[in-house]
Amino acid sequence: MHDIWNPWHGCVKCSEGCENCYMYFLDDMRDKNGAEIYLTSNARYPLSKNRNGSYKIQSGEKISVCMTSDFFLAEADQWRSAAWDIMRMRSDVIFILVTKRPQRIAECLPADWGDGWENIFLNVTTENQKRADERLPILLELPFRHKGIYVAPILGPVKLGKYLDSGQIEQVVCGGENYGGRRPCDFDWVKSLRAECESRDITFCFMETGTTFIKDGKQYTLNGKRLQTSQALKSGMNYQGKPMHFDLVDTWGLPVPEDRLYVKHYCSNCRECAMKLICNGCSGCGRCKKDGKGEISYEE
Ligand code: SF4
Ligand code: SF4
Repeated sequence: MHDIWNPWHGCVKCSEGCENCYMYFLDDMRDKNGAEIYLTSNARYPLSKNRNGSYKIQSGEKISVCMTSDFFLAEADQWRSAAWDIMRMRSDVIFILVTKRPQRIAECLPADWGDGWENIFLNVTTENQKRADERLPILLELPFRHKGIYVAPILGPVKLGKYLDSGQIEQVVCGGENYGGRRPCDFDWVKSLRAECESRDITFCFMETGTTFIKDGKQYTLNGKRLQTSQALKSGMNYQGKPMHFDLVDTWGLPVPEDRLYVKHYCSNCRECAMKLICNGCSGCGRCKKDGKGEISYEE
């Protein structure tokens, strides 16, 4: 249950979805500047071990990488090869990359990349149709074995059908805007994406409504991540498509036996979380905490 690895922190805004970046918002609350980019003390985290000599991150765990930056940020070029080295060494762990910079990926891959590493799941973020049409053709050309799409924060109607028809996309995640931003998420946009995924048996996760949610023409304000994700779950939009499978291997290149793989556990609060569909198991995240419950108000 060690679900995030941030080898570096800080970022450069690059498109509409970055306008109210949550990392900048949270840094600002701590009197820090999200534009300051630096290597963290966790840069080698996936290699850290327990006292008994076993890795803290177990075989089969899913780790989201660079959640307070972008893995393909140009300013991080000097650090990326060391991060690739760690992911190569931990071929028994699934690393989830999420980027708005697919145009940089081809030049950032390690020399032994070949047709991709089995333990890397690449996701490209597309907040609107313009960015989808700009970034997803690049995603389809890249040599990765596992690919997904994040439509978050969703800022308008987005049609993904022609990209999903490639047969390469294994998962789509959608969510509204929160933290410092409140651009609206219209339920009709979500329903349209869900239908596109369901008709192709691709997993679709509506992870959160965002702060401003429009349903049947009425606008609602939902404060608090826990409320936003529980309302997303109640909307019934989540769809489990064809399950993803990662053929993980150990240091010697041998398949990791099923009985050595990490087993997910969830707390009672996870039951109300829309992200449970794609979550790696309870990590005591912000959505679990009772103080994030929040409230709904309706605006005429
Ligand atoms: S790419 Fe992500 S982390 Fe970077 S500024 Fe944009 S939203 Fe923030
Ligand atoms: S509340 Fe539970 S299921 Fe949801 S993201 Fe957090 S840990 Fe995962």
